[in-house]
This record gives sequence, structure tokens and C-alpha cells, in this order.
Amino acid sequence: MSEQGTESERVPSPAVQISSDRVILQVGDRRFTTTKSTLMDGSDWFRAFFSGRWNHELMDGAYFIDADGDLFEHILRYLRRKIFPIFYDNAKGHNRAMYLALMREAEYFQIERLRLWIEDERYLTAVLVWYSVKVCKNYDGSKVPAPSDHEIQHIPFFEEEQVYACPRGISLHKGRPGACGKQCKKVQGDAEDIYVTEEVLKMVVIEKTTSILRYACTEITDWSDWVTPL
Ligand SMILES: [Zn+2]
Repeated sequence: MSEQGTESERVPSPAVQISSDRVILQVGDRRFTTTKSTLMDGSDWFRAFFSGRWNHELMDGAYFIDADGDLFEHILRYLRRKIFPIFYDNAKGHNRAMYLALMREAEYFQIERLRLWIEDERYLTAVLVWYSVKVCKNYDGSKVPAPSDHEIQHIPFFEEEQVYACPRGISLHKGRPGACGKQCKKVQGDAEDIYVTEEVLKMVVIEKTTSILRYACTEITDWSDWVTPL
């Protein structure tokens, strides 16, 4: 898992002015800085946690939460921006183990919308995979650049074909009746066109395109300037 955008931060010294809304969480071995309002907005568990009913001890200036820090990163990402998680790999597909683990966390932190989104397998509709199948002759895909969301598979095969043959036996005219000129026609005379059976190399080209439907992974309705999380 990428550690990019890690929430880990050093504990601020007491001299640093901290707004009363800002909190530091120690989740497993990771540290996150966020606000109480972010946490309480989507999570009943955090609403109860900060309700004042219990006196939670601060450890090293942070609230200790006994949970998996790497999973909590996704919980916090959801609570902050209401972005649903996509654990998808082009080769392996969806990472169901991750979804299940995160669903348990969403259940624990009482984040009903996130829990339901995973339980209903909505992520399946968020990732679209398109296949196009073409049969090509004289295909040279090695020179064709493809975008990174494209995956191209080639299956070569031979097929018998009737190929036009030049009456003068000129190989450049093979398969191209239009290439034969007056001289060829003269040699042919009144005889019918000649065709020979040849094994022709063809290629089945399977193109796979993967795209993520942004509106399917966020609760935000205006996502015009929002960036895909993958
Ligand atoms: Zn010819």
C-alpha cells in the first residue's frame, strides 16, 4: 500500500496553539491529525467518543484508537471527503479481502453509508471494464502506442485464403488485381483470374480498457474538479 499522503505527524509542542477542534489520533502504529468535526460528521462511534460522556486519556498528546492504521487511512479519507474506496488492480481485479476488512472497520466506527456501500458491492459498478475484439490481417500492434488504461492481448492464428495471383507471376501483384497492368492482361488472355490457396497470418486483438466512474465513488455531487483516487 502506498504511504503517499501519510497522516503521520510529530506531536506538536505545548507551545503550539492548537484549535480546540483539532485532534491527533494514534491508530495502531500510525498517527493522524484531523478535526473532531470531520470525525463526528460521519461516524456515530466518534460522536460518542467525543461526547464527553467518557474521559479518554491522551497518550503523548494523542487519543489512542485500537485499530489498524492502514485501514483507518481509508476511513479518514472517507470521513474527510466522502470518497468511497476502490481497491482495484488491472491484473487481479478487486481486492475483496481489503473491502471486507474495511467494511468491518466501517461497522466498528459506525459509518453506515460506507459500510452499506461495501456490503452492496457498489465498487463493482464503479470500475468499468470494456473489451473489444477484432480480427486483423497484417497487424503490427508493436508500433501502436496505447494509453496506460489499455491492455492489449494478441492471439495469432493462420487462416487459409484464396489469393489473387498475377498471370506473369509477379509477386508484387499478388493479392492485388489492380496492380496488374496491360502486360499481365496480355499474358492472361481470355483465361480466368488465377487464385492460389495460402495460409495467411491473422491476429485476434483483444483490447481491454479500464475506467473508474468518479460519480460512483463519491457522495459529492459536484465532482468537476475532483481527482480520481487511483
Ligand atoms: Zn501482374
